[in-house]
Amino acid sequence: MTHSAPTGAATEPVDDAQRSVDAVVVGAGFAGLYLLHRLRQFGFTVRVFEAGSDVGGTWYWNRYPGARCDIESMQYSYQFSEELQQEWTWTERFASQPELLAYIQHVADRFDLRSGITFDTMVEGARFDDSSHRWTITTSSGETVSARFFILGSGVLSTTNTPAFTDRDLFTGASYHTGRWPHHEVEFAGQRVGVIGTGSSAIQSIPLLAEQAEHLFVFQRTPNYVVPAMNRPLDPEEVRAIKADYPAFRAKAKERPSAFLFPFNPGSALEVSPEERFERFEAQWQIGGLPFLGAFGDLLLDREANRLVTEYWKGKIRAIVDDPDVAERLIPKGDIFGGKRLCAGTDYYETYNRENVTLVDLSEDGIERFTPTGLVAGGETFELDAVVFATGFDAMTGSVVAMDIAGPDGSTIRERWSTGPATYLGLAVHGFPNFFNTQGPGGPGVFATMVTGIEHQTDWIVDCLSWMRAKGYTRLEATSEAQSDWVRTVAAAAEPSLRSKCDSWYTGANIPGKHRVFMPYIGGFPAYVSQCSSVAENDYEGFVFEALPAGEARAGGDAPD
Ligand code: NAP
Repeated sequence: MTHSAPTGAATEPVDDAQRSVDAVVVGAGFAGLYLLHRLRQFGFTVRVFEAGSDVGGTWYWNRYPGARCDIESMQYSYQFSEELQQEWTWTERFASQPELLAYIQHVADRFDLRSGITFDTMVEGARFDDSSHRWTITTSSGETVSARFFILGSGVLSTTNTPAFTDRDLFTGASYHTGRWPHHEVEFAGQRVGVIGTGSSAIQSIPLLAEQAEHLFVFQRTPNYVVPAMNRPLDPEEVRAIKADYPAFRAKAKERPSAFLFPFNPGSALEVSPEERFERFEAQWQIGGLPFLGAFGDLLLDREANRLVTEYWKGKIRAIVDDPDVAERLIPKGDIFGGKRLCAGTDYYETYNRENVTLVDLSEDGIERFTPTGLVAGGETFELDAVVFATGFDAMTGSVVAMDIAGPDGSTIRERWSTGPATYLGLAVHGFPNFFNTQGPGGPGVFATMVTGIEHQTDWIVDCLSWMRAKGYTRLEATSEAQSDWVRTVAAAAEPSLRSKCDSWYTGANIPGKHRVFMPYIGGFPAYVSQCSSVAENDYEGFVFEALPAGEARAGGDAPD
């Protein structure tokens, strides 16, 4: 394994060539790095801006105890380079954050990507100028860069959500957000620690925090469905078998709606005997993690099927948790099983059997207020040395609307999306020419393995830019009609799924005041790929193209033909 220096790189002084490039990319996580690599491969000049001090994106920021991926390592990784696939060896079925970060750092070094990245710098604004067909991008360091294309790889879950709790600033103890965890070891020994939230981040960190803290208070507003991850070291034989024909393994995965391979039974939970159903649930439970949802094909489509899986799951939890009252409080009331992203944990429910762990139910009154030494909830005062906010993210749109991205008429994406995000293919936004977003609303996002989805969208974008260059076009924009059609397609794909009926970050329900709409496209990865390919094959149907006179286009710093 190659480990590089902890910080990105000393950013070289900026010369004139870097002030005018073909593309500016935001973010140096999985998406930004591959965008940089692919754009360079096709002869485009690129600047990447990254808020962090190093590459990694999600895996740079989310360093909380227990952070690890819930998609198998052999699938949650790049496939654009066979050499890379062969030379990197994952050690665990589900990679931990340090291993994922080491992998991303290795990729950055191996493909010489750091030289294209400006670290510790946020993109604050971007404005499109219709006379030059170029974006002017401004950054937190005061730099201004001109670019023909402006492309986001800023992350689905990167803008943290810290609720506006009353008197939160009065608290004098330590406080942390799981999505902005410090880069040094955090010591909880001998401390009274409060964790707010019981989503995926909390579920991974709670067992480890409980091992360290003198006492752990878990403040739970809504219980979540958690299944055991069944993480384990990877068997070298299993790795060897996949690597023997990695491309075929990847190709098979891409045929699946989720773009990852796991045992999946398309049959109905309603058409088998109770014994057979139980055995099926049991077998899938033993596999561990998200594949549990693959026990039957209708678990997320049919309420009765969903009730049956919920009953099975409740039996498991009641058997694990010693105190029946605590067990009942850990069981969601009436929520759809898998409606929110299913959580994969290790010893999560077992942790509530520890003497030093208390579950605090916030479902009635929430957190009343903070005090200098703790917080008040349900009329009770909790004295705390440290608080961990595991309160999630302003998902999918948060990182986009955080920037002032203005189209030619001056209106911003923030304004346009205030009544819900609208995109064409999840990639482009009408009114914002030469702009692309990756893994945003209208795209598959977390419903297809993220890295696979990123590679697909990036390849599509770079193919489109190359096509424009060959044709001499300098401006593209999604039409309003194409965008409206796609918004309808996204809504129609979500409609049959029970997921669209739940409160979750998929619908924006986790952020007070956020417009409620099911944001990702859940029609499946193959359908999405097919739609994107068909648009490209039909000369990028749904986009309109324009060309500046050749002299003006060149002066703008276009890439060579
Ligand atoms: P999350 O799922 O949105 O959970 C946030 C938690 O904070 C919820 O329990 C929520 O309660 C609680 N909360 C929010 N506001 C609150 C308030 N005002 N008072 C009390 N509680 C409040 O966030 P997350 O755990 O960071 O996970 C987000 C997503 O990141 C996951 O769904 C997953 O896609 C990804 N993730 C993946 C992994 C992995 O790969 N294993 C790990 C971590 C995260 P309510 O439910 O009542 O709103």
